[in-house]
Amino acid sequence: MATTSETAVAARAKYEPVIGLEVHVQLLTATKIFCSCSARFGAPPNANVCPVCLGLPGALPVLNRKAVEFAVLAAMALNCRVNETSIFARKNYFYPDLPKGYQISQYDKPLAEFGAIDITTGGNSKKVGITRLHLEEDAGKSLHEGFPDSAEKTAIDLNRSGVPLIEIVSEPEIASPDEAYEYLTRVKEIILYTGVSDCNMEEGSLRCDANVSVRPRRQTQFGTKTEIKNVNSFRFIRDALEYEIGRQVGVLESGGKITQETRLYNSAEGKTYSMRSKEEAHDYRYFSEPDLLPLVVDGKWQAEIRRNLPELPEARRKRMVADYGITEYDAEVLAASRTLADEFELAAKAAKNPKRVANLVQSELMGRLKARGLEIEHSPISMKGLALSADLVEGGTISGKMLKDLYDLCFERNQDFPAVYEKEKPQQLTDTTSIEKIIAEIIAANPKQVEQYRAGKKAVIGFFVGQVMKVSKGQANPQMVNELLAKLLES
Ligand SMILES: [Zn+2]
Repeated sequence: MATTSETAVAARAKYEPVIGLEVHVQLLTATKIFCSCSARFGAPPNANVCPVCLGLPGALPVLNRKAVEFAVLAAMALNCRVNETSIFARKNYFYPDLPKGYQISQYDKPLAEFGAIDITTGGNSKKVGITRLHLEEDAGKSLHEGFPDSAEKTAIDLNRSGVPLIEIVSEPEIASPDEAYEYLTRVKEIILYTGVSDCNMEEGSLRCDANVSVRPRRQTQFGTKTEIKNVNSFRFIRDALEYEIGRQVGVLESGGKITQETRLYNSAEGKTYSMRSKEEAHDYRYFSEPDLLPLVVDGKWQAEIRRNLPELPEARRKRMVADYGITEYDAEVLAASRTLADEFELAAKAAKNPKRVANLVQSELMGRLKARGLEIEHSPISMKGLALSADLVEGGTISGKMLKDLYDLCFERNQDFPAVYEKEKPQQLTDTTSIEKIIAEIIAANPKQVEQYRAGKKAVIGFFVGQVMKVSKGQANPQMVNELLAKLLES
């Protein structure tokens, strides 16, 4: 008899998931979208408010030009078509952190449409369409804890009310939790490259809702979907989708029906829970915002904004592979952020061997930065310093071991490589006679290994190299050691 989990796996295989994602990204403007209040995170509650973002009667919104430019730049980076004219609309709903009783958003005429990005999972690439990207204002925040009377009362902080957001809606073309994870990773990476948001999930600058349904394989009609809201990490979204897909399959297999609803994910339990029945668009009674003119971003303005579009991660990785002869894996690591890629390219251009620079950044620099919790911007070793160190190893002036020791000193003293190198000037042993003398002693002391080597076990040379480096305190030139060892062991 099949076990319960085998039955579940078999049932799961009969269905295919359909996933669509809505990503909200806070734009890094200095001020809010419709007033001049500061949009900065972390101010005391209700410090950044005015009649407009408090929703007081008679206050009128004035659109922030920078928010439009950031949104357009993000849309271009996501390969969207930017609509010359888009319309702001009121999305009506009641919520304690929404004093106006409506949110200014965009509805049937959004800022941008028809985008797409490439994602790769398990070695397979595919395009995921982006239905739309629109501008809207954020709501305030309800605080359920942190006050003496939090048990009875909820506090409202309206600092976030009116902070500019873009909402990026994907096509329902994501077919697995892994693809969802990859899509989110790529969207975040692209947005970070454009610089329009810090995408800080802990501070809520990037939030994601997932729509998911399942349908029997080969059925074209969609199943009933549920929405999972406010999950605060990509890993949790993957886990929540995994759980929710299993739950829906279970309901259908036992003859039940899926209810269209909004569900919350509890990461401690790894389960989703029903929160409320899902609103339909008509529940919001959308209508055009009467206090704002249609937003017109004409060809000239679009061209100006496009000039700020940086080289995007995927294109950059391809170019880096071609320009510096590094591997795709190197490029993946080194172009993970725009700053890191910029820094790497500075060093790679300055050094004789870019591949060595790529290795040094990954093996020697990033590990040390990570161990100290430092970002690349705060590295004591500059890219100029790193390029010099790469050239010194390349030219045989210092050994790999010496480089490691010098890097340690740079981090200990918080000094750049050239300064530390100048002071320490480690001497490499390059004198043939001295190295031969050390080798002769080691050969004499290890007859067993010599015998093994001569019997054809060539890998034993590693043991001898290690011994020579140990005796010479890491100062013997490694290339000479290898050559001399091979010569002397053969004789
Ligand atoms: Zn305000």
